[in-house]
Amino acid sequence: MEQYALPIANLIEQLSHLPGIGRKTAQRLAFYILEMEDIDAEKLSKSIIEAKDKIRLCSICCNLTDEDPCNICRDNIRDKSIICVVEGAKDIIAMEKSREYKGQYHVLHGVISPMDNVGPNDIKIKELLDRLSNDEVKEIILATNPTVEGEATALYISRLVKPLGIKVTRIAHGIPIGGDLEYFDEITIAKAIDNRREI
Ligand SMILES: [Zn+2]
Repeated sequence: MEQYALPIANLIEQLSHLPGIGRKTAQRLAFYILEMEDIDAEKLSKSIIEAKDKIRLCSICCNLTDEDPCNICRDNIRDKSIICVVEGAKDIIAMEKSREYKGQYHVLHGVISPMDNVGPNDIKIKELLDRLSNDEVKEIILATNPTVEGEATALYISRLVKPLGIKVTRIAHGIPIGGDLEYFDEITIAKAIDNRREI
């Protein structure tokens, strides 16, 4: 075990909890931070605190936002009759890049995954159903990732929404199985929306 001074060991420990950051990378980042100008290190730590403090969930779509409702829900030009359901807030950024889609969104903040003890009540499905109680919404596009959990979640939601007389579609998969929406180019996403099918 490395004998670091406790504050360095703590910094490495905290950094190593970040996704995709192994022990070696955490060490490298920690030493990089220690070499930074004080002012830059302060900006970094302040930006983390500020983001944690100011960012909350949009009370309509559950997107991450510093203003409630979020800018997409506030935009009156967007089509209120269609909601695209995504796993995470990052997926909205990917969808928006395609410039194909002009409706609303709903962020689930996860997918149903019994292996990870995530059930339907642990993600924002109830919040989605609450939005469907008025007659405004005519179509739901299920844009969860084409993974086993993403497909199961899409199926689960479609079974709840279809009896309400709302059209339910699933984005087409030029997107490969096991893929992650976040990493696709805008043409693939635009095509996937275009070729969505009813489920
Ligand atoms: Zn919103």
